[in-house]
Amino acid sequence: MKSIYDPVTVLAGVGPKTAENLAELGLITINDLLSYYPFRYEDIQAKDIEEIQDQEKVTLKGMVVAEPVVSHFGYKKNRLNFRIMQNSAVINVSFFNQSYLKDKVVLGTEIAIFGKWDAKRKSLTGMKILGSPADLENDFAPIYHVNKKIRQNTLIQLIHEGFDQYGEEIQEILPVYLTQHYHLIGKRQAMFAMHFPNTAEESHQARRQVIFEEFFLFHLRMQGLKYKEKNLSKGQSILYNVQKLKKFTQSLPFTLTDAQKKVTNEICRDLRSKQSMQRLLQGDVGSGKTVVAAIALYAVVTAGFQGALMVPTEILAEQHIESLNQLFDPLEVRIALLTSSTKAKARKQILNELAIGELDVIVGTHALIQEGVQFHRLGLVITDEQHRFGVDQRRSLREKGLDPDVLSMTATPIPRTLAITAFGEMDVSVIDELPKGRLPVETRWVRPAQLENILDWTRKELNKGDQIYVICPLIEESEMLDVKNATEIYQHLSEFYAPDFQVDLNSFSKDRQEIMAHRCDQLKAAFLS
Ligand code: ADP
Ligand code: MG
Repeated sequence: MKSIYDPVTVLAGVGPKTAENLAELGLITINDLLSYYPFRYEDIQAKDIEEIQDQEKVTLKGMVVAEPVVSHFGYKKNRLNFRIMQNSAVINVSFFNQSYLKDKVVLGTEIAIFGKWDAKRKSLTGMKILGSPADLENDFAPIYHVNKKIRQNTLIQLIHEGFDQYGEEIQEILPVYLTQHYHLIGKRQAMFAMHFPNTAEESHQARRQVIFEEFFLFHLRMQGLKYKEKNLSKGQSILYNVQKLKKFTQSLPFTLTDAQKKVTNEICRDLRSKQSMQRLLQGDVGSGKTVVAAIALYAVVTAGFQGALMVPTEILAEQHIESLNQLFDPLEVRIALLTSSTKAKARKQILNELAIGELDVIVGTHALIQEGVQFHRLGLVITDEQHRFGVDQRRSLREKGLDPDVLSMTATPIPRTLAITAFGEMDVSVIDELPKGRLPVETRWVRPAQLENILDWTRKELNKGDQIYVICPLIEESEMLDVKNATEIYQHLSEFYAPDFQVDLNSFSKDRQEIMAHRCDQLKAAFLS
């Protein structure tokens, strides 16, 4: 049976040596060959010679009207001369020191030549003969990435032969309704036109088909992964108490935005479902993701399950436990913080309570679930600002016999299409609205050269009575990383603002946070790296 996946050696003239050379270009099968698309085309439409500038590099196409003649001159120098006729204009063509091209110039046949135009003499200094006359049905010559062993023309011939023998074997993979709906030209026609388009429009349509198909298959594979992931899961249906959840949301000091309601519903639907949730929750800083997380955790607890909230730093963990403590009724939700600074004794107690189910919610850094922590009945894991809770972590949890729902929160705006790519195995929820009356966060990226402007701007803000946070990636200088460290910037800024304003170096200790906290709502933050 003939198949498009037959090896290239089935083609006449492809012996072991050529096959080896083709393999270097990654071309093993006929399919490889036929889908080895050119990286560009040379436009070989005959140009009207009246429009060509002197010394312009152009392609001319015409009939050879005089026998090619080679003349020798000087020491080992030669010139190949012939004439072509294009739209009744006769043009002289000369190639220098390429007398071997003579055989390609056949009287009475069409030829296309790329070269430099001499307007005065109406002659072309040839640089390249484009294809053989047989290839000149089209106005675009394909140009491929080739190497020394496989030349353009060899490749073109092989591709032609491949289509002759295997064109019929090319199978359409898109369903007919999609091809019709998007007015695609179909795989078979597209593959051929990718190499040998008749017109620019056909070339465009061929690319549309090929690109559509590539994305379609990619998307399909991602959906397949997601499907497999879901079916692998021994996820649990978390039947939360609707009444309690309603009461909880009503007790919040504000009403949820529509966007918060929408994502909360999406999450709750996943909790109830038997399959385990794998959801990305995206929303700007201040859009209210934490409240949504709190609602999800509360829901899980009302169903008798435990929840874990994992964050990248201890400071964030502390902030989160504080907000959760304010939101939750202490009688209803038993909650604890577990970080690397938790004292051994407290740690032991927390771990014990987690294991026997006396704790409902645990907040900590992501080491939380890695350090052999035992859960009584883990139902939900929420991660904040870390994109890496993926298939691997999930697997390691599964190995422990756990298959919780997972919600990953991020403030990084991820375009939907990209989210599908990078988080293909996840569903995506977006909070696309800030609570009413909130000033939107403005994020700008500036070059180091603009630092002066930034400093002038900060001075203006300080003059208005505002406060400023400067956040640096490092506390002290590092040999490993070429980024700004806090100590250096602190010194620099102290000098800059002295004696008008006071600068403090802060590694987020409690009392220092309080100094800043009273105007926190008008906080201006700057990041330097
Ligand atoms: P995020 O985690 O998305 O950055 P937070 O959940 O920390 O945002 O919310 C930021 C602030 O907005 C918090 O003080 C929170 O109490 C408040 N907030 C959240 N949702 C609302 C809302 N619907 N209306 C008013 N304030 C809200
Ligand atoms: Mg947050």
